[in-house]
Amino acid sequence: MAIDFLYPEYEVVRNKDRCISCRVCERQCANEVHRFDPSFGYMTADESKCVCCHRCVALCPTRALKIVKTDHTFKENANWTGKAISEVYRQAGTGGVLLSSMGNPERGPIYWDKILINASQVTNPSIDPLREPMETRTFLGKKPGRIERDEEGRIRPNLSPQLKLNMPILFSAMSYGSISYNAHASLARAAKALGTYYNTGEGGLHEDFYEYGPHTIVQVASGRFGVHKDYLEAGAAIEIKMGQGAKPGIGGHLPGLKVGPDISKTRMIPEGTDAISPAPHHDIYSIEDLRQLVFSLKEATAYKKPVLVKIAAVHNVAAIASGVARSGADVICIDGYRGGTGAAPTRIRDNVGIPIELALAAVDQRLRDEGIRDQVSVVVGGSIRNAADLVKAIALGADACYIATSALIALGCHLCRSCQTGKCNWGIATQRPELVRRLNPDIGCERLVNLVTAWDHELKEMMGGMGINSIEALRGNRLMLRGLGLTDRELKILGIKHAGE
Ligand code: SF4
Ligand code: SF4
Ligand code: SF4
Repeated sequence: MAIDFLYPEYEVVRNKDRCISCRVCERQCANEVHRFDPSFGYMTADESKCVCCHRCVALCPTRALKIVKTDHTFKENANWTGKAISEVYRQAGTGGVLLSSMGNPERGPIYWDKILINASQVTNPSIDPLREPMETRTFLGKKPGRIERDEEGRIRPNLSPQLKLNMPILFSAMSYGSISYNAHASLARAAKALGTYYNTGEGGLHEDFYEYGPHTIVQVASGRFGVHKDYLEAGAAIEIKMGQGAKPGIGGHLPGLKVGPDISKTRMIPEGTDAISPAPHHDIYSIEDLRQLVFSLKEATAYKKPVLVKIAAVHNVAAIASGVARSGADVICIDGYRGGTGAAPTRIRDNVGIPIELALAAVDQRLRDEGIRDQVSVVVGGSIRNAADLVKAIALGADACYIATSALIALGCHLCRSCQTGKCNWGIATQRPELVRRLNPDIGCERLVNLVTAWDHELKEMMGGMGINSIEALRGNRLMLRGLGLTDRELKILGIKHAGE
């Protein structure tokens, strides 16, 4: 008999006095943890299947449940931790690559938490955002270097296509396939209500969502799934995906079991086949090749839409961004190493790439040094958790931020990091109809609108506190930031002083 070396990570604690054996937990758990045992007349649990998603806890009518991390332990070893040992057991049992999802959960510096924001006191007085106008509208795209006039002195319009955002927040790429129809519907409706954009990711655009085109960024990734002329024309902008923070340097993989009729039609691939995006675009091996794709897409859409290029934050990101700016892209999107994903090899997710804070500061500085900062807008993502992270990102040089994990949390995600199984109990990262139905797009939209509206209020409050009344004045204003507990090298890369200086 094979021995199972793995001890369950979580324990299901059921208060027997409160449990009324209603079996709600059994019906709600797609991982089949709970089971009513008729011979004993009470509920039991197979804890080895629990991913700690809290669905059963939230829906138990008598609050009889809680999920706790097991205190079962390995003998202390600072090098061979319980996690490291368990992963070896798992791979020895399967022979496979460890898969996970969402962002890198490992400890390590989170620079947002080591950066402090300034506030006015005596001089340069603060502004009360309730009584004075604050401008959080943001335009993404190339800004002309100078005003041009015709022979009669009239201003000649020379502005490239722009994306207009009511606040500097966009919903980041999440494909239909990695997330559900109802999750996409929530994002699309919220983007429209907020006056911002959501992003199709690499999975094409479901025909039902063409009506949200003016609030949609359509993505062109290496697999070219669902890319055709109507798709390109449907969006307000086109994003070329070169890289993703959670898995820089590798492609994507949507297992065939998630490719049902609707997804097959949207992605233009046969039902039940794996959707594999290659690691590189097979027509891009240089900045010149990238430039060709940028201009092909512009040409295909009559030069009416901005083209975004998304890259992962890697070691030489500043040089790469400089090349991307010269490729004719209107916006560079940089995804940091804590960015989320629907599925990624765990080793890649947790070990490849660099923090978005350092990448952003390096890119902004490089583009300024080269005098090309206004030729391109910079959007960053990869774990923007709240309005303070947003303010810090803009002060470090971003024009706007992409959010995805926080948007999914608003929809009910409990960060169980099991999206790759397709059994999301919250109806988000799943295609199973009975699970998808759990997410109501009306409620989802309302919660997303609430989240972004709340952040917009906080953004205005923090800007007002600094005596700043526009995003334009905050962007790249690193004097508004101070580091805490950072080395000289880190401060130098971030381009900020230490607290007290
Ligand atoms: S949902 Fe709560 S009350 Fe119902 S069976 Fe489960 S633990 Fe018991
Ligand atoms: S996987 Fe989620 S729903 Fe199932 S037992 Fe664990 S916490 Fe409850
Ligand atoms: S989307 Fe669903 S499966 Fe993925 S982490 Fe969130 S709750 Fe878990």
